[in-house]
Amino acid sequence: MQQTIMYKSTRNSDLRVTSSQAILQGLAPDGGLFVPEKLPVWDGDFRRLSEQSYQETAYQIMRLLLTDFTEEELKDCINKAYDAKFDDPSMAPLRHEGDAYYLELFHGKTIAFKDMALSILPHLMTVAARKNQITDEIVILTATSGDTGKAAMAGFADVPGTKIIVFYPKDGVSRVQELQMRTQRGGNVHVVGIDGNFDQAQTGVKKIFRDPEMNRRMKAQGLRFSSANSINIGRLVPQIVYYFYAYGQLLRQGAVKPGERINITVPTGNFGNILAAYYGKRMGLPVKKLICASNENKVLVDFFRTGAYDKNRSFKLTSSPSMDILVSSNLERLIYRISGDDSEQTAKLMSALSSQGVYKITDGMYTKLSDFYGNYASEEETAEEIAQVYRDCGYVIDTHTAVASKVCRKYREETKDTTPVVIASTASPYKFARAVVCAIEPEMAEKTDSELIDELQTLSGVRIPEAIEDIRKAPILHNTFIAGDGMEKEVASWLGLS
Ligand SMILES: *Cc1c(COP(=O)(O)O)cnc(C)c1O
Repeated sequence: MQQTIMYKSTRNSDLRVTSSQAILQGLAPDGGLFVPEKLPVWDGDFRRLSEQSYQETAYQIMRLLLTDFTEEELKDCINKAYDAKFDDPSMAPLRHEGDAYYLELFHGKTIAFKDMALSILPHLMTVAARKNQITDEIVILTATSGDTGKAAMAGFADVPGTKIIVFYPKDGVSRVQELQMRTQRGGNVHVVGIDGNFDQAQTGVKKIFRDPEMNRRMKAQGLRFSSANSINIGRLVPQIVYYFYAYGQLLRQGAVKPGERINITVPTGNFGNILAAYYGKRMGLPVKKLICASNENKVLVDFFRTGAYDKNRSFKLTSSPSMDILVSSNLERLIYRISGDDSEQTAKLMSALSSQGVYKITDGMYTKLSDFYGNYASEEETAEEIAQVYRDCGYVIDTHTAVASKVCRKYREETKDTTPVVIASTASPYKFARAVVCAIEPEMAEKTDSELIDELQTLSGVRIPEAIEDIRKAPILHNTFIAGDGMEKEVASWLGLS
């Protein structure tokens, strides 16, 4: 008999909901994030893991956490999500290059790892709505540092009973990312560029979620908000799957013995992807260190070194824009855990973060961070890493993956740890073609975007993905730009709230 897992808010442990309710709500009403009351133990065996398909692994992991979904519902969601939309039959191939294993998570429709979870989230949400007899139309509000927005729209476009609004920092995403969003089709999608950075977009969205007046106006018109950001556990749970799947592939390739520990390196922004790996570890995946890689916005590196989280610093625009984040939302889930599931203390720290921009954890909490190692790569180091991996292996990685690859190198040099390492490869190099090609061939800087994309094909030998061909010819459909403080008004006006 399988145990039921309920979800609690990190800021109020009296609030308990089922997994489908947590997915529907996205953010808890008190502003906290939903966390599983306890993490279930993975009940599979290594031999089977090494033989399973992605879909089978997905079912085996997700059933442990989404316990109010039936077998049929979950399998149906999984089969609809992980199909020929992915341009690799294994969904997430593991490539051995140099002395690392790159877990390619960018074979979905929008060529970034966000597709791994956002291909399934709309299906989970539709089932969750049915289960809870929700007849309201669900309005997905999303802040994006570049990749979530497109992946969420690709998932939710024309899904009956849903609308989706995406806010992106208008000067803070790559050219390809911006075009991908502004060419999005679908009668239920709205794309808005804001004059501000990702943190402002994310704070604005969280504020709208919690605004009682907005929620009253929504309800009056048969609407309700939810989230497609990684604050939604419907994003987090599917992301645990690929770490188990990666381990299965390592076993199959003979790179590890059953039960042998690995390290996992994750290029980190909102702390969602690495948190999924941490949950995987706690469920029984043999992991030694979780290596958290930042770009020059290295607030997490300082946090792991000092125990103080301080967002009061200048925001840098880098070549890895999806990691240009100073407030990593999902860190709240780790804080909650290391406080001993103390929602009062978590709420206090988060309130200090929003009022003073800084908080410090206790010494007792700090000792519980030993699963993690944090470091960063500068802009120069990121470009060098792309060039070096290409020189050494003929393998082309994107800027985000390069940050992780470089930090992994630093970790090994510092610690002499020779544990096999999986690096989460989070985007196709085509998504950041300019930065990638110029890192390998600086003389290409004068070329047009289109020429750089062709050059990337020559360098990598990987065919131009459909996602890129699409934006080369698709018309721009979205031209809405607003000031950073106009988000609420924009939502009300597009939804026609009275
Ligand atoms: C979103 C994103 C990241 C950061 O992931 P988090 O879960 O926010 O830490 C890294 N790389 C790419 C390409 C992304 O799109």
